This record gives sequence, structure tokens and C-alpha cells, in this order.
Amino acid sequence: MSTQPFLPFARPTIDEATIAAVGEVLRSGWITSGPKVQALEAALGEYFGRPVRCYNSGTCTLQIALKLCGVQARDEVITTPLTWVSTCNVILELGAKPVFVDIDPRTRNIDASKIAAAITPRTKAIMPVHLTGLPADLDTIYAIAQQHGLRVVEDAAQAIDAEYLGNTYHGKIGSFGDYASFSFHANKNLTTTEGGCLVFPKDTDEATLKLAERLRLQGVSRNGADGMDVDVIGGKYNLTDMAAVIGLHQLPQLVGFTARRRALAKQYFARLSNSPLVLAGVELPVEDYAQSNWHMFQLVLPTHISRAKVIERLKTEFNIGIGVHYPAVHLFTLYRQQGWAAGQFPQAERVGAGTITLPLFPTMADSEVDRVITALEICTQS
Ligand SMILES: *Cc1c(COP(=O)(O)O)cnc(C)c1O
Repeated sequence: MSTQPFLPFARPTIDEATIAAVGEVLRSGWITSGPKVQALEAALGEYFGRPVRCYNSGTCTLQIALKLCGVQARDEVITTPLTWVSTCNVILELGAKPVFVDIDPRTRNIDASKIAAAITPRTKAIMPVHLTGLPADLDTIYAIAQQHGLRVVEDAAQAIDAEYLGNTYHGKIGSFGDYASFSFHANKNLTTTEGGCLVFPKDTDEATLKLAERLRLQGVSRNGADGMDVDVIGGKYNLTDMAAVIGLHQLPQLVGFTARRRALAKQYFARLSNSPLVLAGVELPVEDYAQSNWHMFQLVLPTHISRAKVIERLKTEFNIGIGVHYPAVHLFTLYRQQGWAAGQFPQAERVGAGTITLPLFPTMADSEVDRVITALEICTQS
């Protein structure tokens, strides 16, 4: 049994100034959506250089983006089976159909070379996911989308402050392209406890932005004889000022968060370079410090090592928390019931069954890297 303190795989960085600012909002008398949300939208708009609206999750932002792209019942949306299930659930909720394309085992993102073959007359959009904050192959994806007249909704939930360095496209994820959706969930690189934002295409007209605002609050607009009208079914997706003020304090720290994450990733690679884990068949992520924001550092265990046993031992013997992000979506019961089965997307299934997320967060100490890998070396020996 370990005497060391518990080391989780993720931990939010919340400073005293943030806590004081939340207190101020609570004392102000205005705690739900108000001036802090507007200020966060303005700050994010400046950061991305495109229109931004905030919502209370990075799930509803995906669904609203698909709606704004005109995705309807029986339409098809191409995406990856190796993602958090919300990417795919929002497609089902619209009555549309996810069309899965297997991953590239190197990047663990959607294999863009296989997308064209998945397009049918019903395809409306492509939803790539920048898993762990490593950008998907956007040059190829946008080229295919343009060629076939498809929309792109980037699930950038994990990719704030990641950088895409392609040939056609260059810049921060969310600063170019079609729609980009971000999550501010507690574990994400920038958090508001829960929350998210949608970044709109640069040339988005005022009417679309107003619709995106109505969709987050019951469809209500300030129109008509009663000073209020409803012309569309909206949800209840507004971010609170209490949450937004946290984001306002996180945003100036983001560059520092990313730098620290990259430094820790570099240390993991250095520690792993002479580790027996690699000889045992453990797969490392792509070593990319220029593009990835290192939202997560993931290894893939070979099939002869029991992931469940390793995770259990790390927890009980070493007090280390390991995450699983994620099992392949098409193998969940809901998706099997709709016809998907094991064997359809072998790369996603293999990675989904072996992936482990190691601790990595800005306030993690350098010495913890060695602690994690040493413990993992012990726990993977049978
Ligand atoms: C976190 C996440 C989401 C959903 O974000 P929430 O804010 O939790 O709704 C969607 N997709 C991916 C890939 C995520 O990691």
C-alpha cells in the first residue's frame, strides 16, 4: 500500500483569484447568464478571431452545430468510433445516423484516407475529433468536404490551444474552418466546471448567430407584441455567470497550461525511451509538441497485459488514478442494438480496449512522471 498522496489523471488548476471572483459573482445578485458570459464570449472571440457563443456543455454545442448545418432525421454524419460517446449520441438524438470510419492507429484520430469511401447521397457532415488534443488531418478532411459539398463540425472538446500545422490550414484549432465545438468540463484544459463554446465560421451572418442564441434558451427572442416570441424549439443550454467567470480567469493562463502540459509530455517520452514497457509492446502516442495541447497522455497496452488488473494495481498499490478514454463507441449496448458489431472497426476496437490515460495536468510535479512510469513497469510484469 502506497503512502504517497493520490495522483489523479487530471486535476483542474483553480487559483485564489478565481475563487474570489466566483464569490463576487455570487454576491452580485446576478448568478445566471449575464455580463460574465458576454465577457467570456468576447474574450474567446478575440482568442479565436471568429464569432463565439457559450453554452453549458460541449455536448449541446455539437448538437446545435449539426442543427445549424441542417442535419435532419435520416441524414448521415461521418465520425470516428474512438471518442467520448457524446460525439455520436448527438447525431442519434437528431434522428440522424453516425457513419463510422476507423482510426489511423498512429494518431488514433479518424483515418481521413477512408472518409471518401463512406460518403453517400445522405451524408451531410463530417465530425472529426481531435482526440487528446492532437489535431485530426484537417487538410484532407476539408478538401473532401469541399469536393462533396459537406459541412464540417470539429469536435474540438479536447483541443483548446492545440495548433494545426497543415499545408492548407495553419493556426489554433477553432481559428479557421467550419464549426468548432469546445468543452469546458472539469477535466478539460480550460474549465468552467461544466460548459462549452461553439466557434462559428468567419462569415456567419447575424441571423444564424441569433438562431444559435435562441437554440440555447427555449427559442425565446425579444420580439412581438408581448415583448417575447418563440419561433423554434430551443433547449436549456445557457452558461451561468458563475461558470463564465471561472473561464475568464482560466483564459489568460491557457498558454502557460499548454506549455506545462507539453513539458510533462516531453518528460514522459524521455522516461519511456529506456523503459521495458516499450519492449513489452506498449504503444506510445505521437511525439508532437508543436500541434498537440497534450490534453491527455495515453499509452496502449498490448492484449497480453490485462488493463483492468493494471489499473486496479496502480490504484491500490501506488495510489495512482488512471483513466480509460475511451472504449470504441460502436460496442456500447445502445449502438450494438442499432446494428453495429465487434470487428467492424478493428483499429478503434484494439486501441479502445488497451488505452490508458496517465496523470498529466499543469500542477503535476516533475517527479510524478517517474513515479507513474516506475509503478507502471511493476504493474505490467506478471
Ligand atoms: C468532453 C468531450 C465532449 C463533451 O463535452 P461535455 O462538456 O462534457 O458535454 C465531447 N467530445 C469529446 C471528444 C470530449 O472529450
